[in-house]
Amino acid sequence: MKGKLVIISGPSGCGKTTVCSHLTQEPNIKKSISFTTRAPRAYEKDGVHYHFISRDAFYKRIDEGRFAEYAEYCGNLYGTSLDHLTKALENGLIYLLEIDVHGASQIRKKFPEVITIFLIPPDEETLEERLVKRNTNNKAEVDERLEIAKDEYKYRDNYKHCIVNDKLDDTIKKIRKVLELG
Ligand code: 5GP
Repeated sequence: MKGKLVIISGPSGCGKTTVCSHLTQEPNIKKSISFTTRAPRAYEKDGVHYHFISRDAFYKRIDEGRFAEYAEYCGNLYGTSLDHLTKALENGLIYLLEIDVHGASQIRKKFPEVITIFLIPPDEETLEERLVKRNTNNKAEVDERLEIAKDEYKYRDNYKHCIVNDKLDDTIKKIRKVLELG
């Protein structure tokens, strides 16, 4: 494998997407664009933020073995394209997977050399504040995501690197060190 595979997990609202968009400013770092059955948010574009597909199309892809991993989160399916992942690694890229804890377990089994990072929000209040502020989920959805977050914390020991995402610059510095980017 020429490239480097990197998982970034953490509770919804912990800042994974922001961290990934900073890291991907470097030409050799790319983020996997997941497939999902979730409806797009107002600002989200198909093929940019996600590949938005129907549940039937998702199941078909599962049957065809086209996912490196997939999982259900808040009633929606999310999955990583095996083909995209393989090509990125063949091309020597640092390939970021912003995926949940269950998808991460599947990837760890298939790609033991994967670098695993768990992002932790500074505290629970900050997490709730970020979820409410970003205004993409209603109250019930925010509550559900906070509930799932409690469960996700239990998996953090499975990750080699746990980083508290308080100040973005510090987080990026720490991740760059983990990725040996100098
Ligand atoms: P959101 O709906 O906020 O975009 O994502 C919800 C959760 O699904 C987040 O924890 C995100 O990391 C996770 N997720 C996004 N894409 C994938 C994927 O391809 N596979 C898995 N297992 N989880 C994903």
